[in-house]
Amino acid sequence: MAEKGKFVKVKSLDSKIINSLEKKYGPLWETIWPEEYSFTDPFKNLIITVLSQNTSEANCIRAYKGLSAKFDVTSQRLVSADESKIKEAIRSGGLYNVKAKRIKEVSKAVLEKFSGDLSSVLALPKEDAKKKLMELPGIGNKTADVLLTNRYSYQKVIPIDTHFERIVKRMGLAEPNADYNAVQMALMNLLPEERRARLSGLMWLLAKNTCRAKNPKCYECPLACLCEYKTKKEES
Ligand code: SF4
Repeated sequence: MAEKGKFVKVKSLDSKIINSLEKKYGPLWETIWPEEYSFTDPFKNLIITVLSQNTSEANCIRAYKGLSAKFDVTSQRLVSADESKIKEAIRSGGLYNVKAKRIKEVSKAVLEKFSGDLSSVLALPKEDAKKKLMELPGIGNKTADVLLTNRYSYQKVIPIDTHFERIVKRMGLAEPNADYNAVQMALMNLLPEERRARLSGLMWLLAKNTCRAKNPKCYECPLACLCEYKTKKEES
């Protein structure tokens, strides 16, 4: 039994499993998140992450399109924008009251703390950068890691959301009470580094569509042979 919070690395993806992941989820990945919304500008990345909270990818992109059609997506511009106009611009994405308020708050903080320049924070050593990013209002581990991918890519940093947490714990790669860092470490260790960026996207689609919170579709899961949840279910 692993210590509380530690990850358990006992499994690995062989080429057969990797090919199944690619075949099943690869085509979906190409359609779900168009390339033009993977920003190299960390501030744009921050804003689209705020817009992605508790909504579908399609709604998130719709809201971002609405926002960028009306405003330059910079901290300087959004700080001076009227909150009601931001609400109007992102309305189609859902939770627009909360998100407009958060966009205003985070823009103000980025401007005041970092003179509007997140790149200077990302130039710091990784752990220092993360600590500073998490000083921004409403920015936790996941969003800070999303921003870190701007410098380090998904090969070096995988932001952990509820879908990743669920699948990692079900597979038995981390203890049920494992914290964010332990889940992240477990996932990073499962995915071979040279293919980690791509595989993390495919794993996320698997978690979202197949390893669903309710009624996971284990019967069609490419990872079934590695999964503790499935094994226990069959034994019970
Ligand atoms: S076998 Fe079932 S529980 Fe395990 S990862 Fe696949 S869908 Fe999730």
